Amino acid sequence: MVSPRKSRDPKTLRPATQLVHGGSLRSQFDETSEAMFLTQGYLYDTMEIAEKRFKGETPGFIYSRFSNPTVAMFEQRMALLEGAEAARATASGMAAVTAALMGQVRAGDHVVAAKALFGSCLYVVEDLLPRFGVASTLVEGTDLDAWRAAMRPNTKTLFLESPTNPTLEIIDIAEVAKIAHAGGATLVVDNAFASPMMQQPLRLGGDCVVYSATKHIDGQGRTLGGVILASEKFIADHIHNFLRQTGPSLSPFNAWVMLKSLETLPVRVAAQTRSAERIASFLSEHPRVSRVLYPGRPDHPQYEIAHKQMSGGGTMLAFEIEGGKAAAFAFANALSIIGISNNLGDAKSLITHPETTTHQRLKPELRAALGIGPGLLRLSVGLEDVEDLCEDLGRALG
Ligand SMILES: *Cc1c(COP(=O)(O)O)cnc(C)c1O
Repeated sequence: MVSPRKSRDPKTLRPATQLVHGGSLRSQFDETSEAMFLTQGYLYDTMEIAEKRFKGETPGFIYSRFSNPTVAMFEQRMALLEGAEAARATASGMAAVTAALMGQVRAGDHVVAAKALFGSCLYVVEDLLPRFGVASTLVEGTDLDAWRAAMRPNTKTLFLESPTNPTLEIIDIAEVAKIAHAGGATLVVDNAFASPMMQQPLRLGGDCVVYSATKHIDGQGRTLGGVILASEKFIADHIHNFLRQTGPSLSPFNAWVMLKSLETLPVRVAAQTRSAERIASFLSEHPRVSRVLYPGRPDHPQYEIAHKQMSGGGTMLAFEIEGGKAAAFAFANALSIIGISNNLGDAKSLITHPETTTHQRLKPELRAALGIGPGLLRLSVGLEDVEDLCEDLGRALG
């Protein structure tokens, strides 16, 4: 395996170029498109080489639970994009979140998280960690005083998503990072909703960023995957052994799909964001829509923070229609292009009713506190022609 032509340091290239060329490992066949290495193991010419590789004295692959050339290309490309020293791919976004949190704590530690979390993330923080003696406190993520008040001497890590699911609240990542560091803790940011094109939490002071690569990174609704990005030290101290020994590895096939998807990530997310902006304006002018939540609009409650930490409003929006659950169901059932699905970040536009699907497990009080009412719908804007999407929404509303 040889590296690409002696070219510029990929770190000096702009993101779109990094996403096409970064991290490529070319085989002796000089393929243009990155190869998929479906192999579990690797051969060593001699026992001496095997010994050296196991000792970490020579580079090279050992076993695909640890690393694999296609997975490594995906990790490298993600690290370049994010400006991270190191990246580790995982089998799903939840494997990334679980490893990023579990890898840092032991019994007796404490974790603080924003309460507006993706359902499975909430399970990890609220149910799983306490089972192993790690206490957790959930706070209102937009309230910086609540974060400060929740800090304890044994607080090891803070965890948040921004924009949040499904109401797209914006949490000030730089300010929460300061609170974490002042208390000797780290900050982990789940950046799935924003995508790496809209927001780069490590550059805002976060210590670790996690993705469900299932979402915008695949972007075409095919494979599950996740990725953890951080400094070399963070990965070495908390993540490396946890992943190697517990085994939530990304399949090389899925890594290949994600790797090739990264080439088109900037154009896809830019187009989806333009459409989301247009749909947000369209909906905000519609008499049956009582509220539109889109981080790119000045009427968003945390617009100032969104403007400061995101490069655009992103591909997701939420809105409320008059008439509660019955009206929301009738409206979504009447759509003909936009599909009903809890997934997001797909080329296909998808709509979901959080109260009865993604957030139905939550206690009603928490749902109310999060602003998830019966008329709320969450829309993930895809790559269709935006005029067709507006017509679809308009017809279903009318
Ligand atoms: C989808 C999602 C996850 C989980 O990712 P999977 O790939 O489904 O495991 C975690 N966090 C957020 C914000 C998500 O949207």
